[in-house]
Amino acid sequence: AVDAPVILEGRGLTMRFGGLVAMAEVDFTLRKGEILGIIGPNGAGKSTLLNIVTGLYRPSSGEVRLEGERINGLPAHRIVAKGIARTFQSSRLFGDLSVLDNVVIGRHVHMRCGLLDAILRRGRAEAELREAARRAAELLEAVSRTLYAQRHRPAAELPQADRRRLEIARALASEPKVLLLDEPSSGMDDADTDALMADIRAIRAARPELALMIIEHDMRLVASLPNRVLVLDYGQKLADGLYEEVRLIPRVQEAYLGR
Ligand code: ADP
Ligand code: MG
Repeated sequence: AVDAPVILEGRGLTMRFGGLVAMAEVDFTLRKGEILGIIGPNGAGKSTLLNIVTGLYRPSSGEVRLEGERINGLPAHRIVAKGIARTFQSSRLFGDLSVLDNVVIGRHVHMRCGLLDAILRRGRAEAELREAARRAAELLEAVSRTLYAQRHRPAAELPQADRRRLEIARALASEPKVLLLDEPSSGMDDADTDALMADIRAIRAARPELALMIIEHDMRLVASLPNRVLVLDYGQKLADGLYEEVRLIPRVQEAYLGR
């Protein structure tokens, strides 16, 4: 992935909230097929970076380019349709809907019917929905046998680790070029984190071009999964490189030990 083409890049990204500078002049690049880890203490600006990339926040200055095309300023749903999908730090599943329907909703960017028609299975949504449900079931089966087996259960009934898997499956349903995961292992024990890492590896093996950005605090995961890590602190980029190298940088160590 080191010499693969750049798929996503940020230049001079700055985000102010009133007097608070949550992000200051941050540059980053992500290449096809690369896994970029984003680490840094609480409040460092990690989720802010994902929110800027996905159009939830408009940066105060700077720009984001997907395959060379400027995307900041576009509404979030247009950015998803262009190929950037994400999961959130806290769950945003539809708990009353089945596992399968949650994935169908992820496919919605590729459907013509309205979301409400789709959920209520009414109007012309019927045929389109049947096709979407077929593809969603296929995707679930490929991502996780456990999820597939539970596909008719309401999402709220799933164990925590399966809910996180489902969020990833739902994001994949939009057939993204770039997948952004915000603290996917939060609240998981070591065994679930290991299973999550295996899932992410399997997803990547099935889609070698997919590029991932993963915000993570579990250092075992950070040490083993990403090709490269970006370290943020107080909205500044402290370092960018191999985990084995950046973890030795004194400023990086201070950022972690200082709090
Ligand atoms: P991280 O994900 O690294 O823990 P965040 O990106 O969530 O950090 O937050 C970075 C800083 O920006 C924090 O000080 C946070 O309070 C602030 N912040 C984030 N989003 C908003 C917002 N919508 N309004 C005001 N302040 C925000
Ligand atoms: Mg965060």
